[in-house]
Amino acid sequence: MKSSSIIVSYEITLPQRIYLHLDRLFSVFRRSVRNFIDMFWNENTLGLLNQKGHTCSILKEIVQRPQNLPSRVFRNALEITGQILRSQIERKRLFDAFMQYPCLVLYNEREIAKRLNTSTWFALNVKRQILKLIRNGERRDYFSLAKPSFSGSVVITSADDSLEKGQFKRLRIEKNKLIFELKVPVGNAWDWIKVEKFVPDRLRKALKNAKEIKAPLIKKVDLKSGFSIYRLVIPLEIQTKVKDKVERVFALDLSPSEKRIGVGVVVDSEGYSKPVFFNAYKMFKKLERLYREISNLEKKIDHIADDLHSTFKREHKEKLYQRLRHLYQEQKLRWRKFKDLRKQVLESFTNLVILHAKAYNCDAIAIEDLKFKDLPDWKNKRLRRIFSIWFYSKFEDRLRHKAQREGIKVLSVNPFNTSQVCHECGSKSKANRLEFACESCGKHFDRDYNASVNIGLKALTLACKTKSKPYKGKDIPARFPSLQVLTRYKFKSLLTLLSLSKLVAYLRLVETSYLKLKSLLKYVSADKYG
Ligand SMILES: [Zn+2]
Repeated sequence: MKSSSIIVSYEITLPQRIYLHLDRLFSVFRRSVRNFIDMFWNENTLGLLNQKGHTCSILKEIVQRPQNLPSRVFRNALEITGQILRSQIERKRLFDAFMQYPCLVLYNEREIAKRLNTSTWFALNVKRQILKLIRNGERRDYFSLAKPSFSGSVVITSADDSLEKGQFKRLRIEKNKLIFELKVPVGNAWDWIKVEKFVPDRLRKALKNAKEIKAPLIKKVDLKSGFSIYRLVIPLEIQTKVKDKVERVFALDLSPSEKRIGVGVVVDSEGYSKPVFFNAYKMFKKLERLYREISNLEKKIDHIADDLHSTFKREHKEKLYQRLRHLYQEQKLRWRKFKDLRKQVLESFTNLVILHAKAYNCDAIAIEDLKFKDLPDWKNKRLRRIFSIWFYSKFEDRLRHKAQREGIKVLSVNPFNTSQVCHECGSKSKANRLEFACESCGKHFDRDYNASVNIGLKALTLACKTKSKPYKGKDIPARFPSLQVLTRYKFKSLLTLLSLSKLVAYLRLVETSYLKLKSLLKYVSADKYG
């Protein structure tokens, strides 16, 4: 057993009686941070921040504490200003590179990322920003153009706050209550207010077991009803245990194609299982619809913008502006839906993968190293790029984070050849769209299934230096393209969180594994599918 630690955040809603105080605290904090950003938004400070050292102490050298601001609040405001400014350093580096070599805009984002040594997602992001600039015909310097804004929805408390020593706030637990104090503006001065809040069991246990409590935040959440609530976010450093030995892996081939998002398979030294197809047909349909609507709105907006140039009547212009505002709003709404859905896909998919790995008692999850992965083939190319780049950039981190909590390792293997080699006989053939037909042994497999088994075998070989023997049973899945598989098993949209019993039932239904699943049997005995 090896132990490592991760940071997990817990949230509780703060009692309403202190909201008036918090409103004032937030407005003071917001004002201060915005002031500081104005003050520090220049080449000089960014250069200083780029050097190592504690943000707060660097900035403290430059600015004096305003008299009406308590030193704790001052430090915290500086801290968050520093965080915001530091997040801009990399963006500016890319921006400078683009300004120096304007032809970079012509490359695709993967090439740019490689040249500038950054992530693909980030390169795409900055490139878009620059293309927008070019379209608008503006060419000003970075500092007049990209000033970061602070939404003011977060207040951090002191960076070295803990259960024992309090700065901005003292956290302690008595029986089942969390008690702390908070410095807020009261009248013309600052004063401490005491807050008591009932702590749910889960959080109390976590607080007890936590290695360290990091600086808590207070977050303002705007509800749909128009009201806002304040929540206390407590990040805890938690120790987790990961098994050294890897004996069974859940291998995953990611393939955000039209219907599915990935294929999983259980591999251990005794053999490997039938595939599990993670279907996301409905989600992709929805994403496509939203994206289509967004593109249509974009066309309309362009059209109106052209009209605006050619018209001189004031009344007409006014009307067009109104229409434009409306369209922008509509577009913004759709983007938000698009992003929410995308995030939902990521969250449920990673949850499902972890559930599978746990249900089959796997020690590790094997995935491809996504840095080397080619983008999948999709009908709607622009959407495909936007979705895949984002998905690939987030997937591994998210999966790792969740897996670590469960004590499951994540192994990433080089995807070289995984989709071109037959997992049974090991000879090389070419995959034809969704089907892999081995020229040597003549068997047919689903393309992604073949790849996922190869990934699992690779990971197993790397992790425990033993090879998995192919299972030579009577019914090795020789499947034709996924369509057939899908109609045969009538998969529903699987990307919803399933309860374990449902999951087990579903796994049994599709006879996912030949492996002896002792750990599963105890769950299924009472199940009607069992
Ligand atoms: Zn073969």
